Parts: sequence; structure tokens; C-alpha cells
Amino acid sequence: MGKILVAGGAGYIGSHMLDCLSMRGMDAVVADNLSTGHAAAVKHGELIVGDIRDANFLNGIFSKHKIDGVIDFAAFSLVGESCSDPLKYYANNVTGTIELLRAMHRHNVGSIVFSSTAAVYGEPEKQPIEETDRTLPTNPYGETKLAIERMLGWCAEAYGIKYASLRYFNAAGADPAFGIGEDHSPETHLIPIVLKAALGKRSHVGIYGTDYHTKDGTCIRDYIHVLDLANAHLLALEFLEKGGESGVFNLGNGSGFSVLEIIEAARRVTGMDIPARPEARRAGDPSVLVASNEKAASVLGWKIEHTSIEDIIASAWEWQSAHPEGYGK
Ligand code: UDP
Repeated sequence: MGKILVAGGAGYIGSHMLDCLSMRGMDAVVADNLSTGHAAAVKHGELIVGDIRDANFLNGIFSKHKIDGVIDFAAFSLVGESCSDPLKYYANNVTGTIELLRAMHRHNVGSIVFSSTAAVYGEPEKQPIEETDRTLPTNPYGETKLAIERMLGWCAEAYGIKYASLRYFNAAGADPAFGIGEDHSPETHLIPIVLKAALGKRSHVGIYGTDYHTKDGTCIRDYIHVLDLANAHLLALEFLEKGGESGVFNLGNGSGFSVLEIIEAARRVTGMDIPARPEARRAGDPSVLVASNEKAASVLGWKIEHTSIEDIIASAWEWQSAHPEGYGK
């Protein structure tokens, strides 16, 4: 395969995608408006700064580069913000992918791998969650991702553009050897917050709810190493290129950890006494989200390398402790 266009490649998962492409000796062109991404996170491929909602910007890229496949990470992804400003999410997320698809259609690019999310399921009916389970998002972020998944289905029929929608569970970890890790502002994700508390950059971790119907009362999530996630994108792209059918795939480890278990694991990994205290539930948080990853394993041949939660946290810790201010300073 030749050049891959990575939209949103300066973000957390996108930059690890570039890492993965570089390990495989594959060329990348990165389109990112740097609204949440970091130029310093682009360690492989050419970064072209601009907005994928701008048709001229995209046409320029597709005209200049021979693009063989597109991976679309470019989106806003904060659940809370999506509830307070839904139009920001619809306008950015849906429009960005519309323009990408238009440009692909115009330039005869046949495959797209799309960043979707477990948030499309909303409050699940059963665990582990399978791709065929009910989708009923409980926030605008999940709604925009589901809308795009459906749009991809129609575009596949109309224009013959093949797609794989990858529904991520909780992306975690980093590749410090490649000089990249997680740097969100504001940070809302559990593992980086726990590690910031370990570094003393936060006074404590707030545990959002201790009265869920789970073993210890805190929410359970499925944490998957970001390099395993990235690898699944390559497999999906290759699968589509080889004639595989478009579809949706869950990407998770298949096992769940509670908030308290994550804090305990982080205490073991860091050797730090991480202060934590119960706080109110966060609106829209389902109690348990654990993936069935059987479809990705059997159809794409996805094999998860980082199965230990300690190893995942250790990689994030290595990055955070070396870059306490993220990419900025
Ligand atoms: N969480 C928490 N305290 C925090 C951040 C997150 O207790 O400071 C909980 C959150 O309620 C959820 C889990 O940790 O149950 C993972 O949250 P995160 O935001 O990392 O990912 P999400 O599951 O929302 O995509």
C-alpha cells in the first residue's frame, strides 16, 4: 500500500497510528487543524495543517499526493462538552467526514477506516457488548459518531467507498520510545488524571460515583493499549483493500477494570500514594462497558499485544513522568 491520509494524525490515537505506519514502513500524510492536536506529536509523515471541513484544503492534498486509503481520527471527543455544545460536535464531526468522503469520491479513493466509539451503544443491554447489540447513544458525541457510521453505510452503497468503523473502548497507554503519549487539555480521562495525581500535578483523583451496581460500586471500563488500537486500523485497511466487506468492529481488550482497580494498579506501577476520594457520578456514564472483540479477532486477525493493565499504565506513566507538561513545554 502507498500513502495513507491520516486525518487528525496530531492527536492521541492518530499519532500512535503514525507510529504504527512507520514501524511498517508505510508513508503517511497528516491533515490536522491542530485545534486539539500537537504538531510535536507527528513523528512520521508530512503534517499539512488545515481543516478537513475545507474542501479546497482536502482537494489540494488529494491532488498532490497519491492517497491509497484514509484513516479518519479528526473529531471532537469530549462527552461532557458535547452535551453542553451539541452543535459544535455535529458541525465539526459530521461535516469533517462528509468533506473527506466527497474528496475521496472525487479522487477515486476506495477505503476509509473511521474512528468510532463504544459511546454509540449508550447504556448497554448486556456484557460483553457485541457489534450487533442495540445502538442508542446517551450523548451528542456518540450520536455524531453513529450518524457518521450510518452515513458511511449509505456512501458505500452509492459511491462504492468501503469503510471499517472501529468502535473504541477506552484507549490508554503510550509509546514513550517514539516520543508520544496522551496530552489533552483539559484532561478528562481516568488514567492520565490518576498519573497526574501521582506526579503531584493534581491534589487527588475524584472517583465519579461509588454506588454503581458493580463489584466495588465504581464504573467498569475496558482499557485497550493505543498501539493495539492503531494496529487494528492497518488490519482493517488491508482487509478492505483485499476485498473484505465493510463493517463495524469493536476494539477492546475484552476485560473490565473498575475505577478503584485502575487507581490501585497505578499505585503499584508508580509506587506513589495516589490520593483519591468519592465524588458525584458524572452525567451520562454507563456503569459497565466491556467489548466483545471476537469479530475483530476472527475477521481482521487482530491480536492484542498489550493485555496487562499494569503494562498499559506503565507505558502511560513513562510518558507522563518524562513529559509532565505534555508536548507544550
Ligand atoms: N473517571 C473518574 N474520575 C475521573 C475521570 C474518570 O472516576 O477523574 C471514571 C469515569 O466516570 C469512567 C471511567 O473513569 O467511569 C473512565 O472515564 P474516561 O473519561 O477515562 O473514559 P470514558 O469511559 O468516559 O470514555
